[in-house]
Parts: sequence; structure tokens; C-alpha cells
Amino acid sequence: MNTIKQNLVNVRSHIDTAAQKCGRSSEEITLLAVSKTKPASDIEKAIACGQTEFGENYVQEGVDKIHYFANNHALVWHFIGPLQSNKTRLVAENFDWCHTIDRLKIAQRLSDQRPDSLPPLNVLIQINISDENSKSGINLTELDGLAAQISILSGIKLRGLMAIPAPESNYDKQVEVLEKMHLAFKQLQSQYPNIDTLSMGMTSDMEAAIACGSTLVRIGTAIFGARDYATK
Ligand SMILES: *Cc1c(COP(=O)(O)O)cnc(C)c1O
Repeated sequence: MNTIKQNLVNVRSHIDTAAQKCGRSSEEITLLAVSKTKPASDIEKAIACGQTEFGENYVQEGVDKIHYFANNHALVWHFIGPLQSNKTRLVAENFDWCHTIDRLKIAQRLSDQRPDSLPPLNVLIQINISDENSKSGINLTELDGLAAQISILSGIKLRGLMAIPAPESNYDKQVEVLEKMHLAFKQLQSQYPNIDTLSMGMTSDMEAAIACGSTLVRIGTAIFGARDYATK
């Protein structure tokens, strides 16, 4: 068995165990393989093990990979990095999801630029839940307003929320922060019928995220190994 295959087996069983512990079905939890900085050959190995959902952080790198795998229509591509307005067209034309909406202007451009030939781009609003150093994401107090503005745009479809909490190794502290996301998600769900996705949980907080209702975990390191940014 190659390493990526073994890693995927381990991550899936980790998700199963975490889901069982809190009485959830692991079928409610999508595994997003975060392949940023990794070569197409690594993605190919993951595809060979049945992985279909991939996450990329850098627009051009992601678009190159989407084009490389264009013949494989089973794949679903998620943009999960910070998005500047001069790059929205590439995301609108190539990706299936964007997790990092934190202003109306970006949402508006994605909606306008989404080709008519494609279904609406699925989007998540990014919440800055705990990381005061991060400029990405809105505060929870701004959520109702932004959701109302985004939900009427025809080229995109609001599906839920995403967060990247500040790094924290203590499980109980992870839960404390992630529970706030769970609450906000449930409130949003009660207002909008399409809301079904809570994107949270990475290699180091996957278990806490699942306990707090995550429906999509974004896992890079545990699948593809440590990233080397030196060549970027
Ligand atoms: C890189 C990244 C991940 C994956 O992180 P790991 O700790 O390697 O699992 C998940 N989400 C986002 C937004 C990322 O940028």
C-alpha cells in the first residue's frame, strides 16, 4: 500500500470513530482532501482510493490541477484560500465551491462571473471565530446581514459556514470555539433551507470539529504529509 492510500484509510477510520463517539453517522461528514502545494501525481493516488473532493488554496495552482483532471467529471473542487477580487473570475469559471466569502463584493463578482452553463457556485461564509491576527472572515455579529445579501444572488448558492480557528491543541478549548460555530450554523439553517454545510476541522482538530457538528473536514497533512513551501 502506498503512503497516501494508507493515510486515507487511517483518516477515514478516524472520522468513523469520532462520529460514532458522538452518535453521528460518518456519512454526514465529507472528507475534503486538501492538496495545496502537492503534485497532481499525489492527487492521482488519492483518486485511485476513491477520493473525489479536493481543496486548493491558491487560485492558479488550483485551476492548473482542475484543467489537468478535466476529463474526470466525478471530481469536486473547493477553493479554500483567501480570494482577492482580481482572481474571482478564475474561481467562478473553474471551481465547484468557494469556502472563503467574507464580503459582499467578492460574492457579487463570483455570482456575476459564474458561467450560465454551470450550476450556481456553492459558497460558504467564512467566520473569524477566534483568530484575532487573521484578517479573513467576518464576525458573527455581521452574519445575518451578509447572509441576507448573498442569498439573493443567482450565480451562487449559499450552503453554510466555514472557519479556521486559531491553533489550539487542547481538546476542550477547541470544542469551546467550535461550539460557537455549531450554534451559528443551526441558527442560519433555521432561516435558509439550503444551508447544509459546516466546514471545519483540520488535521489537528478533526475530532473536536466532528463532535461540534462539522459536515466537512478539510484534511491536508494527515493525507499528503507535511507541506514544503520552500518551492512556492
Ligand atoms: C491548509 C489548509 C487545511 C489543511 O490543513 P492540515 O492541517 O494540513 O490538515 C485546511 N483548511 C484550510 C483553509 C487550509 O488552508
